[in-house]
Amino acid sequence: MKKTSQVLKKIILFSISAVLIISCSQENLEPNQTNQVIELNLNGKVIQQILNLGYKKENITEYSDYYVVDGDIRFDKKGDYSPNTASPTGRTSQAHNDIFIVYNKQQVITVRVDSSIPTTGVDNWRDQVINACIDWNRANSRVRLSYTTLSSANITVKSDNGSLSNTTIAQGSFPSGGNAGSTIFINLDFFNNMTVSNGTKEYNMVHEIGHNLGLRHTNWSSVDFDQFGNVITAWGIPGTPTAGANPDPASVMNGGTALFTWNDFSDNDINAIRLMYPEDNNSNRAYDPVYYLFGYSDLSTAFNNDPAGAEDHWLTEGIYEGRVASPIFDMDYYRTSYSDLSNMTRIQAVTHWVTQGSNEGRNSSPVFNVTYYIQNNSDLLQAFGATGYQKAISHYISTGIDEGRMACPTFNPKIYLQKNADVAAAYGSTNYRNALYHWLAFGRAEGRVAL
Ligand SMILES: [Zn+2]
Repeated sequence: MKKTSQVLKKIILFSISAVLIISCSQENLEPNQTNQVIELNLNGKVIQQILNLGYKKENITEYSDYYVVDGDIRFDKKGDYSPNTASPTGRTSQAHNDIFIVYNKQQVITVRVDSSIPTTGVDNWRDQVINACIDWNRANSRVRLSYTTLSSANITVKSDNGSLSNTTIAQGSFPSGGNAGSTIFINLDFFNNMTVSNGTKEYNMVHEIGHNLGLRHTNWSSVDFDQFGNVITAWGIPGTPTAGANPDPASVMNGGTALFTWNDFSDNDINAIRLMYPEDNNSNRAYDPVYYLFGYSDLSTAFNNDPAGAEDHWLTEGIYEGRVASPIFDMDYYRTSYSDLSNMTRIQAVTHWVTQGSNEGRNSSPVFNVTYYIQNNSDLLQAFGATGYQKAISHYISTGIDEGRMACPTFNPKIYLQKNADVAAAYGSTNYRNALYHWLAFGRAEGRVAL
């Protein structure tokens, strides 16, 4: 029978590879109580979407509620893995799908570890989950990850509860419906309950988060075929390998690497994530790295030569402390200005503004009112229209601040420099950006004249 031959094949494959490769493999799958392995049925939306992504049938295992592909990538049967076009153009990478997190859901992706993972002892992976978030942030793509304890997190890390095979250390999930993959499972009894080092934990969390961001296995994509038998070539970005069975051995996204220790991304990994999610300085508008250090002396001391560390601080601590990290967005000002936002937490306010409020033209800072900005600058009103909020925001950040334009009725940067000689002396009589920063961070509280 077909099923028997597949099992035999897996046993043979396992005996060959077990010594060298312990990992992302699907041998010895033990069904748990709620999700049984069942015969692969090729009828259905999600299985067809998986095949269209180029995965081979023999690398797909079907369970009652989901599929597992390549050993450690879970596809929920209720998910939507259709290619999306809302992501940036020009995308390609060494091994990706056409499933992306859409632009307006990428600003801050929150990650939590639920209570199924112990908070103490060797099974506590929280520090390594946090480190993995920071590692991805340091790759400087548009993706920004933030560790949280809120149950509303975009990605939840949890125990596999016995569902993963003995040789699978963890399992991620691909983006679905434009959102990051929602779960990562950790096998706390991996490989006969061996003790897993912190470096190996971090490696695997970086790897699985990579799946949740839409990355495939670097070393397996060369042997993927689509449902018609055509070879899928997932590589193609300039400067990354284009041939060979394992063209980038240093890639954290290689399958079969469960026992590896974190030693940074390969250059191609960095290229891949940046090409999937190109950094756009205007996109991360809630965070202005210069303003963040300008406004807080403790941070400028700690992070003067460490911009990545400063941003990590904002994502992991600053948001929760209510620190203002951009002249155009103040989370406390924002959430207290609108009755429908008044019950939001700070992280919820950040997410609301970047994904929704900025499109609605909401007033987001004491010095930046996008409606005022458009209505009081006739060239912008003509160019962008009365509701061209996103274009107006981009204009203010890239041009308007430095031109000294007014973006709220209570602060005129030109008057501020004229009437505050010490500020003009410190920064220059036409340094409107620093005038803005100074008034927001200090001048307002000091009662300085700004009109
Ligand atoms: Zn994997």
